[in-house]
Amino acid sequence: MGLVAQAGAELTKRAEDADVIVVNTCSFIESAQQESVNTILEMAGHKTAGTAKKLVVAGCLVERFRDQIRKDIPEVDAVVGTGELEKILAATGISPAPTKINSPFVVLQSRPEGDARAAQGRFSRDSWARESWTGAVGDLPNYLYDDATPRILATPRHTAYIKIAEGCDHPCTFCIIPQLRGQFRSRRFESVVAEAERLAQSGVREITLIGQDTTCYGEDFGLRDGLARLLEKLARIETLRWIRFLYAYPNKITDKLLETIAQHQKICSYMDVPLQHASASALKRMKRGGGAEVFLRAITKMRRVIPDLTLRTSFIVGFPGETEKEFEELCDFVREVQFDWMGAFSYSDQDGAAAFALEKKLSAREIESRRKHLMGVQRQISKKKKKALVGREFDLLLEGESEETELLLEGRTPMHAPEIDGKVFVNEFPDEVKPQPGQFYRCQITESHDYDLVAKIV
Ligand code: SF4
Repeated sequence: MGLVAQAGAELTKRAEDADVIVVNTCSFIESAQQESVNTILEMAGHKTAGTAKKLVVAGCLVERFRDQIRKDIPEVDAVVGTGELEKILAATGISPAPTKINSPFVVLQSRPEGDARAAQGRFSRDSWARESWTGAVGDLPNYLYDDATPRILATPRHTAYIKIAEGCDHPCTFCIIPQLRGQFRSRRFESVVAEAERLAQSGVREITLIGQDTTCYGEDFGLRDGLARLLEKLARIETLRWIRFLYAYPNKITDKLLETIAQHQKICSYMDVPLQHASASALKRMKRGGGAEVFLRAITKMRRVIPDLTLRTSFIVGFPGETEKEFEELCDFVREVQFDWMGAFSYSDQDGAAAFALEKKLSAREIESRRKHLMGVQRQISKKKKKALVGREFDLLLEGESEETELLLEGRTPMHAPEIDGKVFVNEFPDEVKPQPGQFYRCQITESHDYDLVAKIV
C-alpha cells in the first residue's frame, strides 16, 4: 500500500470503486487457501463487470500455486510473491519503473541452524513435489522490508505492528511456512528502531512486534538476546506507551528476555507462546520437542520473574496419531497451567508438510470434537480468571465505538493484544471525561463474562 500510494495511486477500501484490485492472500492451511481463492473469485467479478481494469494476486498463495492461479483464474493479470514486493508497481500498471525499496540497513545473513535445515531440505519445494506444488518457483523469498519502505498502516493510527524478522528455520512437521516464507532473517536493529521512532512521531502509542519467530531475532547477525535488547531500546522511545511481541518459541525464551519484560513499565507483561501440544510424544512427532514437565518449569519461571504476567498460548488438536491419552495429557496440562488466553486449532493436513506422510490420521469429526472439548476446558478457566479481575483497576487504551453495539465503547488493557484477545466494553465514564479513541484512561473492571470484560473509566 505504501509503495503504490507513493507512486501516486489513490487507495480505496471499496472494490467497486477501484481500477486495480490487489488481493493479498494466505496459504498456511487449507481453510485459508479456500478463503483466499473465494476472495479472488469475488474480486474477479468486478473485472468481469467492467468496473476494475486489473486484478493482482499477492502473498503466500502465489508462493504455492503461482502457475495454477494464472491458469485457472484468467481474470488475474499478475501475481506477486512474498519476496517480490518491488514488482507491485509494474503488476498494478501504476509505474513500469523498477522500484528500489531496500535501504542500506538490509544485509541478509542466515543462522547456522537455518543453513543446516536448508541442507536437510527443510525449505525445498521440490523434495515433496506433488501436483499442488507445481508452479511454485524454486527460489525462496529473501525479502525484508525496511524503515525506508513506504508503509500505510491498516490499523487504527494509535497502534502498529512491526515485523522484525521474516521466515522460519524450525522443523515443525505440520507447517509449510518455511517453504512459503523462506529461511529466517532479521531486520537490522537500527532499521526497526528507526521505524518505531517514526511511527511514534506520527501518533502511534502501541507497538506489537511480529515475525514467524520473534525470539530468534538477531541470531543471524550474531546478536545474543537480540529481542531483549531491541525491547529495551524501544522502551526508551518517549511517546510509546505499550510495547509487546507475539509468537515466542518456547525454548528460545531467555532469562534476559523475562527480566527485560519485568523491568520495563512500557513492555507489557504479556507473553504469547504457542506450545502446540503438551504431550512429549505428540510434540516429538511434531518435531517441536518439550512436553508438559519442561513447559511447566518454564511457565513457573516466567510467572516468578513477571508476577503480573498474562500468558497466551495455542494448541493443535488431532495431530496424526494423537491418542486419547495424549489428548487427555493436553487437557490436564491446560487445567494445571490456567492460561489467560488459549486458542485451539484443528490439525489441517498440508501437502508439503512432513506430517502429510504420517499414518493414523484422525477423522475431521474426531478432531472437531476434541477441539470443542479443549475449548470447553479453557472456557471455564477463562471465566474464573476474568471474574477475579472484577474490582481491579488497569490502564485502558480506548479503541472507539464497540463493533457489537454503538451503545458501548471498546478498549484494551495491557492484558489484551490487538485483535486476538477478548474485549473490554466500556459503559461508564465521568461526566467531565469526553472519551477519545486512541487515548489512555484508568479503568475499573465492573463485570466479567467468559472471555470479555466490562469496565468503567475512573
Ligand atoms: S515455528 Fe511456527 S512458523 Fe516455524 S515451522 Fe514451526 S509452526 Fe511453522
